[in-house]
Amino acid sequence: MSVQVVSAAATAKVPEVELKDLSPSEAEPQLGRSASAVSAMAPPAGGGDPEAPAPAAERPPAPGPGSGPAAALSPAAGKVPQASAMKRSDPHHQHQRHRDGGEALVSPDGTVTEAPRTVKKQIQFADQKQEFNKRPTKIGRRSLSRSISQSSTDSYSSAASYTDSSDDETSPRDKQQKNSKGSSDFCVKNIKQAEFGRREIEIAEQEMPALMALRKRAQGEKPLAGAKIVGCTHITAQTAVLMETLGALGAQCRWAACNIYSTLNEVAAALAESGFPVFAWKGESEDDFWWCIDRCVNVEGWQPNMILDDGGDLTHWIYKKYPNMFKKIKGIVEESVTGVHRLYQLSKAGKLCVPAMNVNDSVTKQKFDNLYCCRESILDGLKRTTDMMFGGKQVVVCGYGEVGKGCCAALKAMGSIVYVTEIDPICALQACMDGFRLVKLNEVIRQVDIVITCTGNKNVVTREHLDRMKNSCIVCNMGHSNTEIDVASLRTPELTWERVRSQVDHVIWPDGKRIVLLAEGRLLNLSCSTVPTFVLSITATTQALALIELYNAPEGRYKQDVYLLPKKMDEYVASLHLPTFDAHLTELTDEQAKYLGLNKNGPFKPNYYRY
Ligand code: NAD
Repeated sequence: MSVQVVSAAATAKVPEVELKDLSPSEAEPQLGRSASAVSAMAPPAGGGDPEAPAPAAERPPAPGPGSGPAAALSPAAGKVPQASAMKRSDPHHQHQRHRDGGEALVSPDGTVTEAPRTVKKQIQFADQKQEFNKRPTKIGRRSLSRSISQSSTDSYSSAASYTDSSDDETSPRDKQQKNSKGSSDFCVKNIKQAEFGRREIEIAEQEMPALMALRKRAQGEKPLAGAKIVGCTHITAQTAVLMETLGALGAQCRWAACNIYSTLNEVAAALAESGFPVFAWKGESEDDFWWCIDRCVNVEGWQPNMILDDGGDLTHWIYKKYPNMFKKIKGIVEESVTGVHRLYQLSKAGKLCVPAMNVNDSVTKQKFDNLYCCRESILDGLKRTTDMMFGGKQVVVCGYGEVGKGCCAALKAMGSIVYVTEIDPICALQACMDGFRLVKLNEVIRQVDIVITCTGNKNVVTREHLDRMKNSCIVCNMGHSNTEIDVASLRTPELTWERVRSQVDHVIWPDGKRIVLLAEGRLLNLSCSTVPTFVLSITATTQALALIELYNAPEGRYKQDVYLLPKKMDEYVASLHLPTFDAHLTELTDEQAKYLGLNKNGPFKPNYYRY
């Protein structure tokens, strides 16, 4: 295969990266030492010439307000390739989405002033060992320096266990366990569950074609040889497939959970059995949570050189406790809205000391995870919690962004009568043209059977709305934060709360009216249902490629800033998922490619294209 996977030129550097009309040679730099490694896993279609002129798609239409220079130079020419992308400001900062948004990653007791590889200043933290509770409690206390992130407490209760060991109250930290090879470098609930976990992983592999393809395409080449990845993500069968792929590509991994509830114990056991140092179990206390992270990084004779984080807690821990480790760390790949927001904060403060990839805002994440994941899981979440029928039900969906569009489409297909609320006239017009009635929440609040929020905003459903809802109205949230519904306003003496099922509360008014509140206003699908493996495959592949890119990028390609994955990689992730559908992609003819000013192998769209 001759096509290079990566074009750093398409990398969107944020905040406030500006447009540049790139010359062809600037627009598509080849990988440095990564080129051979990654070319083995090149996009399937087309063949094509890696040296071909860069696509016009990378060029902005015309310089205009907000445009300006950003370089993207060929590594072959010994220059530094940089991001060349749409001007974009930090979307997370802009939208103020995060409940914990004001919290920076930097420890209050020190400042981050050193760039590890292009060293300038020193991070000033005590590189001290953390004292952990000897006897952790189930509930755990906030014994450490910052509160656990939102993402770490959002529950995937759906991570159903086939081997429920909840009766085993012994903390895994108090157990002496070894895998069949005699290693005890892990801490999981019960290593004996490994076989069950292996089956879960095998099932997930069926729906994660791209990661499996990456393993095959590596064909003995190890683009992650020498990589020592420390990860902190949900530990599910899907993550296991990612970890084992990273291992197959040459990486050593150590892993902790980013969420105290979401670990699938048998999957963690299977990973430990096959030699991955995993430190995670379902129902960790907060003290356990940080202890597990610490066990991943604080290891004799092993230092991470890559971070894969989901929520920013791992990154925070290393900044706080082991800042010197950043001297060896080549980059951070961050998955979540919250974690990315923190990285932007660090970057803005000039305190980010390694390059970071924002996977959250990749096209393949936004357009698939947000839209399709929610389209599939909204019904699942509602069904599992309420057993309701959707046909003929009146539903109001607040927000018609990606998540809202997914929810509306699913409910409409089930025969529900769907209303939409929006603040943005463009999304509002989209809703109208998709056949939904655009209303103000007040106009329909008395008649609807279900209220769903997906705005990323706060107090979208207020106590006043809740007071006016009809009896048995179901209220739930699909947005990131649990502030979209003013749940706190329901905790007043005149209202009675009745827990009727796991994650289902009836809130009862003095006159007997009750509303059905799901997951206490937290993300419905993450709390009450499963999310489709295939969608997670897309995100996991994006993470794997981001790691490969950061790990192999020649010195200087990425600075101490936050980047989006190059568009060509986004396209590559998508292409790896097409065979599942027996989809046949049309190839540009030479003539067509010339006519459109595109490289036959992509990127096919400019960064400003919205899909
Ligand atoms: P988005 O920005 O595309 O859409 C949000 C929409 O809400 C926007 O169109 C905005 O105009 C609208 N809005 C804002 N305030 C409003 C208000 N008061 N009333 C009505 N509409 C309002 O974002 P998105 O990608 O759709 O994500 C929405 C939320 O869902 C975010 O918090 C995101 O983190 C979260 N999310 C959840 C999942 C999941 O699996 N549940 C997946 C991805 C993202």
